[in-house]
Amino acid sequence: MTSFTSIQDAINKASGAVSIRGWIYRERGSNKLKFIVLRDSSNIIQCVFERTKFEKCWEEIDHLQVEASLTISGTLKQDDRAPTGYEVQVSDFKIIGKSENYPITKDQSTEFLADNRHLWLRSRKMVATLKIRSTVFAAIHDYFRKEGFYEYHSPIFQSVQCEGGSTLFSVDYFGKKDVFLGQTWQLYAEPAIFGLEKIYTISPSFRAERSKTSRHLTEYWHAEMELAWAEFKDIMDHGEKLLKHIVQKVLQENKAELEILERDASKLLPTITKPFLRLTYTEALKILKEKCKIKVEWGKDLRTIEEEKLTQLYDVPVIVTHYPKIVKAFYMTENPLHPDVVQGCDFLAPEGFGEIVGGSHREHDLEKIKQRLLDQGEDPAEYEFYLDTRRYGSVPHGGFGLGVERVIRWICGLENIKDAIPFPRTMERYKP
Ligand code: ATP
Ligand code: MG
Repeated sequence: MTSFTSIQDAINKASGAVSIRGWIYRERGSNKLKFIVLRDSSNIIQCVFERTKFEKCWEEIDHLQVEASLTISGTLKQDDRAPTGYEVQVSDFKIIGKSENYPITKDQSTEFLADNRHLWLRSRKMVATLKIRSTVFAAIHDYFRKEGFYEYHSPIFQSVQCEGGSTLFSVDYFGKKDVFLGQTWQLYAEPAIFGLEKIYTISPSFRAERSKTSRHLTEYWHAEMELAWAEFKDIMDHGEKLLKHIVQKVLQENKAELEILERDASKLLPTITKPFLRLTYTEALKILKEKCKIKVEWGKDLRTIEEEKLTQLYDVPVIVTHYPKIVKAFYMTENPLHPDVVQGCDFLAPEGFGEIVGGSHREHDLEKIKQRLLDQGEDPAEYEFYLDTRRYGSVPHGGFGLGVERVIRWICGLENIKDAIPFPRTMERYKP
């Protein structure tokens, strides 16, 4: 049995005999030579077939097309003209899977690429992004486990809403209609901190987003944490340390991928070397007015354009705190000194990428929560199970939710969040 090495290992080996396997990334040929750039998950390498060695099967070689899979044995040789500096002079090969008229060629529309997403996943940029995505998931897990958090899971079928009825997906649950796909784990996570104290998850969240923006999906991966005995500052500190850890891991492990994506890695450095900027909402409005000439009326939520302008001023994430109570969810604690603002925070990624994390300290006063639910048109009776968390041994606590694709989009410098997930789901796109 031949033992195969990855293309990257072959490049590292630099000389001698080698066997590799993969897919044809590019091909060109002449009467005497065929050049195939082979790719596998690790890298690409040029392979050269000489007609004199393969006279009997030259026709077959000559007809090889992009994305056919093959195994190749040969001798490694340094060659500065080759795309990754080395080439394989082929002595033997086997076609494993033919490919004819691969639909994806140069310069196709984004719509066409979206229809052929299952094939587009093989592109170098998608592969680079998916590798970074894998690092990000691993980094989230190791951060929380290192900090002593338990991984915990909320149900996806839920009977209460948490982030506003307008983005709820209802499901037909055996004929019952008051069942929704989870927008967040939160209402089912808070009950668990009275047993586990420190918990986190990475799970899909669902939001019926009607807007076509470059940062909203209808299904996204949500990394959330909930912490007992926490003050507001603890929540922000964990968010900052988590993001620093994620970015550091990507810079350590994915230099090559950032290069493929043409992402300037130096833009990410300040996030790990400098403290994040912390601003109150009111201060943010002042900066928007003075430095960006944008006037936002106090009491209005920051819109995408305003977050964009604000974060273009900085090279580290900005944590905006103390938003007006009316723009935030019912469970956030009022600021003791200014009850019209809440102890909630949004982390905005620099360079105009905008919100990546939303968190808060949770209101523990039962009557206040009931009132806020009523104010938002909800029936507190539906929330009885949740309200019990405030009836029996409640403690100060809080948490945050991080949109994993938002973070990937920022780290990779992607124009649209859709490229941060293999099969993006939006209002218009649910196929393939
Ligand atoms: P936005 O104002 O951008 O819609 P939000 O205030 O609705 O965000 P939260 O409810 O605080 O967001 O959710 C926590 C995090 O989940 C956000 O900071 C963001 O990173 C992520 N997120 C929220 N909605 C989406 C979405 N539709 N697609 C991808 N990520 C999302
Ligand atoms: Mg939203």
